[in-house]
This record gives sequence, structure tokens and C-alpha cells, in this order.
Amino acid sequence: MSTIIEPLRGVHDILPAQAAAWRFLEQTTREVFAAYGYEEFRVPIIEQTQLFKRSIGDFTDIVEKEMFSFVDQGEDHITLRPEATAGIARAVISNGMLRTGRLRVWCMGPMFRRERPQAGRYRQFHQIDAEAFGFEGPDIDAEMILLSARLLRRLGLSRIKLHLNSLGTPAARAAYRERLVAYFSTYESQLDEDSRRRLHGNPLRILDSKHPDTQRIVAGAPHLADSLDPESKTHFETLCGHLRAAGIEYHVDQRLVRGLDYYTRTVFEWITDSLGSQSTVCAGGRYDGLVAQLGGAPTPGIGWAMGQERIVMLLEKQGRIVPADGPQVYLIASGERAQRAGLELAERLREARPDLRLQVNMGGGNFKAQFKRADKSGARYAIVLGDDEVARGTVSWKDLRGGQAQQECAIDRVAERIGVLLGNEQANTG
Ligand code: ATP
Ligand code: MG
Repeated sequence: MSTIIEPLRGVHDILPAQAAAWRFLEQTTREVFAAYGYEEFRVPIIEQTQLFKRSIGDFTDIVEKEMFSFVDQGEDHITLRPEATAGIARAVISNGMLRTGRLRVWCMGPMFRRERPQAGRYRQFHQIDAEAFGFEGPDIDAEMILLSARLLRRLGLSRIKLHLNSLGTPAARAAYRERLVAYFSTYESQLDEDSRRRLHGNPLRILDSKHPDTQRIVAGAPHLADSLDPESKTHFETLCGHLRAAGIEYHVDQRLVRGLDYYTRTVFEWITDSLGSQSTVCAGGRYDGLVAQLGGAPTPGIGWAMGQERIVMLLEKQGRIVPADGPQVYLIASGERAQRAGLELAERLREARPDLRLQVNMGGGNFKAQFKRADKSGARYAIVLGDDEVARGTVSWKDLRGGQAQQECAIDRVAERIGVLLGNEQANTG
């Protein structure tokens, strides 16, 4: 016997039993983006490695150690996308989409990062991603945040807090960086190894350190707010005003810097206390320099990404009931004639009721075995066809979840009957 092949580390299957939650998340996502006039954009999963190096930055976690990169037949340097923003920015430039100035788009799909797998952290995971190009003012920052807030609310999730900060212009950020390097250099020997390595490459990342000794040093570090340029300050204050007016609670978090190089001005994260240490479910910010950095005409941009696995975990944890989409009706047929009549009836019913979810028993079995399967399928009703029924031109009808006795009904009245029963059911639950 040959050995079984295991999935790759940090890569998981989404089982049929979990798919309803995923579909609910994806369906709600589509509706909310449509409600704000955002268009769906589908971009490739593989891109030139150079794209991510140039946009995300050499001293970020992603580029330093998390990318799945390979050389394709000795020719192209390819990376599986670790995030969506860089690819969308590349696509917006390559397709000449900025000539008309402005764009609001979203996408959804798998991302790849070679991280240490743990609950809520995987090597293949999924993100919902929103991006807007060509908007300079803080109104779009507010819309982006409102959109993410509405999505989380529509999903029925609670206990998620908005953390907000401003990184200022690249110049202000550079000035802050200098102050940080100076500050952390005086404590260099006391920093953890990762932070020492970041001291000259990406000192802002030290603020994120989870290391207790480093955290103590971080507590005394200079604040970014003191380095902010006046325009960034005004931008941030206006955004905060918009959020207050819209009734969105937020917490200004001086330590929030985000790990990617391309961020400028507004950065934000939605953080929950329901998921342990993988607590950020959505993160984003402005990237006013990114398009120019990738060779496009200077164009401001802003976006966010939401981790779908973490959202699905929250749906489960918070006991959110997602709409069921298993079969409503199970068709039982015993005997060859009945099976043929059953197949035919099932096709007619699907024709008459395209919304009907009907599962037909396959593989035969006696009535007892088939009823067992009907029960397991989760269906509410069973349609039963035996040779007797076929001879009479009827079907039997059973409510699998109610106490009612089996009833008989003419075969050409079944569609009508389903309409009445499922119609009532929808009216009762809707
Ligand atoms: P962290 O500091 O936790 O590594 P990050 O800054 O790398 O987060 P982003 O690049 O901002 O994360 O990704 C946006 C969102 O995507 C995260 O808030 C999270 O919900 C989700 N996410 C990121 N990496 C993973 C992963 N490896 N597995 C599952 N979800 C992830
Ligand atoms: Mg990360």
C-alpha cells in the first residue's frame, strides 16, 4: 500500500461543512461592495517577484522571509502573491486605468506567506481586499473605514475595535525614523535579536515587537504624532471628525505603524478580543507613493485587507447562524421503475423551481436505508417513490422534521405542493 500524501504545512482544506460560512461571508461582501459602488477586480495570483520587493519593501517580514518565490523553468522570477495591493496597483497601471483619474475596486482570494502556522495564521489564507486610487482627501479614508465597519456589522460580528493612527508624509516618517534609530541605538544591547536586526532596516517595526524586554523600551520611545507634518495632522483630524459624525468609535493608537513600507498618513486595524493573539481581522491604510514607486503617474491610494479565515473563526466563535444551503427535499426511490420516474420528476421539479435544493438518493438501498440518508442530509421533506406509487401516478410525501404522517399526492402536483410548503417556510423564517 502506498503512503498517503499529507497537505502542505499551514495549508488547510475548507470542508463542505464549513463552506456555508464562507459563502455567507463572500455573498455579504459582494452586497456591501455593491452598496458603495466598488467594482470587482480579479488579478493574478502569480506576479514577478520584483513587484513585491519594490512595493512592500526589502526589510518587511513579508519580503525578508515569508514569500513563496521560485524561478520558472530557469526564466521568470515568480512569487505567489502575499497580499493584493501590489498586484492591483500593478494592474491598474498596466491597464491604463488611471487615465480617467479615479477608481474604487475590490477583490477576494488566496494569499501565500511562509509563516509559522498557528490558529488564525496559515501559509495559504484568504483576504477580502478594497482599494481606491486617485482620492487625496480624508473623505475616502472615512468611506473605506465605514465600508469595513458595515461589512463586519452585516456579518453580525461584535467586539471588534477600530485602532487608528497617522504615519504622516514620507518626509515626516523619515524624520521620525531618525528619532527612533537614535532612541533605540542607546538601548541596542537590550533589544531582542529581531529588533536589533530591524534597527537600521525598518526601525518602525520594533514598535510592533511582542518581546517583553523590547516592549519596555518601546514604552519610552518618541511618539510619531510629534513628527507629523501639519497637512497630515489636518488630514487625520478631519478623518476623525468624519468618523465621529458617522458614529464610528475609534481608538488612536500611537504604536500602530503597520509592517509594510508603502503606507503613508492614515493606518488602521480592526482588532478583536475574541481570537487570542491573532487578533487583527482587518488592516489597511493610505499608500500615496505606491503607484509612482511602481512606475505609474503619481496617484494617491488607500486600501484594506480582511483575513477571511479569522472572520470565519469569529462567526463560529460568536455563534452566528449562517443561512443554510443544504438540501430542502430528499427524493427516495426504490426499484428500477421508481428510480427512473424519480430522476425524471427531480429534473422537472428543478425546471419548475430553480431555487429548489433537491437531493436524489443514489446507489439504491431499501426504504429504511434511504430514509436514514434523507435524515442525515438535513432535508426537511422527503418525496417517496415506490413501484406502487409509480403505478398510481402519485408520490408519498413526508415531513422529516415534523410529526405528521406520510401523505400521498399526485405526481404532477408535486411542484405546486413544494411551492406552498417551502414558500410558507420562507415566510416563517424570513
Ligand atoms: P501580522 O502582524 O499579524 O502578521 P500583517 O500586518 O502581516 O499581520 P496584513 O498584511 O495587514 O497582516 O494582512 C491583513 C489581514 O490578513 C490580517 O489582519 C489578518 O486578518 C490576515 N492575515 C495576514 N496574514 C495571515 C495569515 N498568514 N493567515 C491568516 N490570515 C492572515
Ligand atoms: Mg504578517
